[in-house]
Amino acid sequence: MSQILVVVDGAVAKPALELVTIARRLGEPVAVVLGAGGEDAAAALGEYGAVKVLTADDPALGEFLVSPKVDAVAAAVESVQPAAVIFGSSLEGKEVAARLAVRIGSGLITDAVDVQPGDEGPVTTQSVFAGNWTVRSTVGHGTPVITVKANAAAPEPAPATPTVEALTFTVADSSKGARITKSEPKQASGRPELTEAAIVVSGGRGTGGDFGPVEELADSLGAAVGASRAAVDSGWYPHSYQVGQTGKTVSPQLYIAAGISGAIQHRAGMQTSKAIVAVNKDPEAPIFALADLGIVGDLHTVLPAVTAAVKAQ
Ligand code: FAD
Repeated sequence: MSQILVVVDGAVAKPALELVTIARRLGEPVAVVLGAGGEDAAAALGEYGAVKVLTADDPALGEFLVSPKVDAVAAAVESVQPAAVIFGSSLEGKEVAARLAVRIGSGLITDAVDVQPGDEGPVTTQSVFAGNWTVRSTVGHGTPVITVKANAAAPEPAPATPTVEALTFTVADSSKGARITKSEPKQASGRPELTEAAIVVSGGRGTGGDFGPVEELADSLGAAVGASRAAVDSGWYPHSYQVGQTGKTVSPQLYIAAGISGAIQHRAGMQTSKAIVAVNKDPEAPIFALADLGIVGDLHTVLPAVTAAVKAQ
């Protein structure tokens, strides 16, 4: 059976398990873990079907910008000769993937929301042009390099006992051109990362600037908080939480839009969510055309009632 190389950057989190689950559809998952902790990662990745884990632990991976990671993944490709290479669609994942594709002379597909096996290699689904088109693509040249958005698949356990090998690779001098001088972690909110969360609760202009009910509902559900551009432009929530065409694209299991009208630019960032719930006091709001469940009402009444019901469970 052909092998599929899954690139895991750092500690194993849900997106990595999603990638291994997707890789199982295409062949045998082999993971390359970038950074320390590869041995620990192997047990978690094995639970989801990784047959082999290559550990790539070198200080250069944390010391320099993305290029050493390309060196490591290129060495893994050389060693495994996979039928495809899959990355998570983080900003860094996409940059490493693009550089890898150039390095190995392959085609690249980014931001896939689904990947399925096909006669001519993996068939990906992408939502493009602000979500107006759904595109199915295959890579026509070389080993397909694909980045996959978080929540494209639910992680499904399939226990295997992976072999663990240290990957031999050399960091090229040309990869040491740009050094990381300082890195500041984001202030921890205790909430999941917006693009990786299984549930997102977003607030819009309808909050009137009070995100309390949105945050309380998010916390009761273990969800991330998002915001419309109107809320961000009003200074009510930071831009890093904006969902939409000029913000983040999310694809959670459940997206709750509170006080958001559903403009096309907002929909572009959330319409691939698996289930959409809208709370809006205007029964004619366009968001209801997209919602699986619509609640007509004032979010300041509806959200606290839902939060109380969740907490009572
Ligand atoms: P509004 O459209 O004003 O809607 C507010 C809604 O709240 C209304 O439907 C109202 O009925 C409801 N409401 C009011 N009070 C309550 C209440 N108490 N309880 C319940 N409901 C209530 N927008 C984005 O979101 N993301 C983007 O990335 C983005 N990119 C853009 C890029 C470009 C180039 C352009 C031109 C626009 C972009 N926009 C984006 C803006 C977009 O067009 C809309 O203006 C924006 O999404 C509107 O935000 P909103 O739904 O919060 O506000």
